[in-house]
Amino acid sequence: MIDLTDRLIQTPTLLKAPNGNARWHPGRRALQVLCGVLLVVLPLTNGLRLDVRRDEFYFAWHRMAAHDLYLLFWVAMLGVWGLVAVSFLYGRLWCGWVCPQTLASDFADSLRARLDRRFRVRKMAPPELGAGRAFFVSRSLWAAIILAMAYGTGLTLACYWLAPATVWRGATHPLADPAAAATVYGLAAVIAADMLWLRRKFCSHACPYGALMSLLADKNTLTVRYLDERDDECIHCRKCETDCPMGIDIKQGVGQFACIGCGECVDACNDVLGRQGKAGLIEYRYGTEPERVTRRLPLSRRLGLWDARRVAVVATWLACLGIALWSLLGSAPLSASVTNQGAITRDTHGVRDTYLLTLNNGTPDTHGYTVTVRGLPGVRVEPSAPISVIGRAGRTLPMTLIGPASLPPDTRYHVQLDIRAGRDARTLTTIFYAP
Ligand code: SF4
Ligand code: SF4
Repeated sequence: MIDLTDRLIQTPTLLKAPNGNARWHPGRRALQVLCGVLLVVLPLTNGLRLDVRRDEFYFAWHRMAAHDLYLLFWVAMLGVWGLVAVSFLYGRLWCGWVCPQTLASDFADSLRARLDRRFRVRKMAPPELGAGRAFFVSRSLWAAIILAMAYGTGLTLACYWLAPATVWRGATHPLADPAAAATVYGLAAVIAADMLWLRRKFCSHACPYGALMSLLADKNTLTVRYLDERDDECIHCRKCETDCPMGIDIKQGVGQFACIGCGECVDACNDVLGRQGKAGLIEYRYGTEPERVTRRLPLSRRLGLWDARRVAVVATWLACLGIALWSLLGSAPLSASVTNQGAITRDTHGVRDTYLLTLNNGTPDTHGYTVTVRGLPGVRVEPSAPISVIGRAGRTLPMTLIGPASLPPDTRYHVQLDIRAGRDARTLTTIFYAP
C-alpha cells in the first residue's frame, strides 16, 4: 500500500471535500473568475492598453508617452517569461486554470448544461414528450446569451487597443468610425464562433501553447497523473472520463496532448473513492516517475523549483519584473532637449534665434514648466509663460531667444536655458548667434 502522505501536492484544507479528499474545482473556479474580472477591468480602468490611435501605452494605471515605449518591451518580456516559467514549473496548469479560452469554454458548456437541466432536455427522448421543443428553447436561449457575451467581450477586448469612448462610439455609430466598429464586431464574431462551435477543439487541435509545452515539459514538470501502481483499486466507474471537459481518459497515460491539467478528474476520483474511505487514484504530480521520496520537501520544491533550469527561468522573470517596475517608477520626472531651427533675423528691435524645445514629463501628473535664459545680458525667451505638459507625455514647441539689437555682427554666445517644474530643474546649453 502506498503511503498517501507522500503526495507531492498537498491540497489546502479549505479545498478539501467533506470526506477529506482533495477538491481542486472551487480553487480553479475562483482563479478563473478573478482572471475574467481582471481581463475586463484592466482595459476599462487604464490598467493595460496599447492605444494605437493616440500612440499611448497604459501599464499598471500609468500613462506612458511614445518616448516611454521601451517599457512596452519589458512588459512583453515579462509576459513571455512569465508564461515560460509557469509552463516549465506547472505544465498545462495555465491552460486549465488561467487561460481565457478555457474560461470561455467552461462558461459555454456549463451554461448549456444548466439550461438543459432547467428545461428538462433529455437526450434520445421521444418527440411526443416535447423533447424537441425543450431542446429548441434551451439551445436558442443558450445561443442568445453567448451572442450577448461575445458582444460584451468584443467591446472589452477592443479597449486593449482603443480608448473606451472610441470603442463605444464605433460600436454604436459604425459609419462614424468604421475602423473601431470593425474591431469590435470582428472580435465579437470570432468570440461568438469560438464559444458556439470551437471551444475545446481549439485547445486540442489548434492552440500553439500545447505544442510549446511538448517542447518545454520534462520529468520535473507538474502533470495530472493516474497512479498506475494502484490500478487494482480502480472500480472502473469512468467518472474521471465523464467529468473530463476534454473527453479524454487520463488512465491511458500521463502527458496526453489534449489534457489541460484542470484537475476535474482528480476531484471525480476523489469523490468516488472517498465515499469508500479511500484516496483517489489521480493526482497532480511533478514528473512521471512512480514515487519520489517526498517527505519533508523543501518549500522551493513544493513551488516547483526542482532544478537549476527552473531557478534560472524564474530568476529571469524576476529580473524582467524588476526592470519594468524600475522603468515605471524610476523614470526621470523631467527631461528636455533643444535644437536650433536655423531661422535667425536681426532688425531694430533685436536679434531673434528660433529653436525647437522638447519637454518630457515622466510623472503621472500635469506640470507647468518655466524656461529662463542666462549667459548673455539682455537676452530673453519666448514663450515666457509656464508651458503645461500632461503626465507621462512629451511636448515639442517652437521657442525664440531674443537678444539686444546692439550685439556686434557675426558673434556666437553660449547661453544656458534653465527649465523648472516644481522642485525639478534641468539646464540646457545652446548657441545664440547674432548675424
Ligand atoms: S484528463 Fe483530467 S486534468 Fe486532463 S483535461 Fe481531463 S479532467 Fe482535466
Ligand atoms: S474515477 Fe477513479 S475509480 Fe473511477 S474509473 Fe476513474 S480512476 Fe477508476
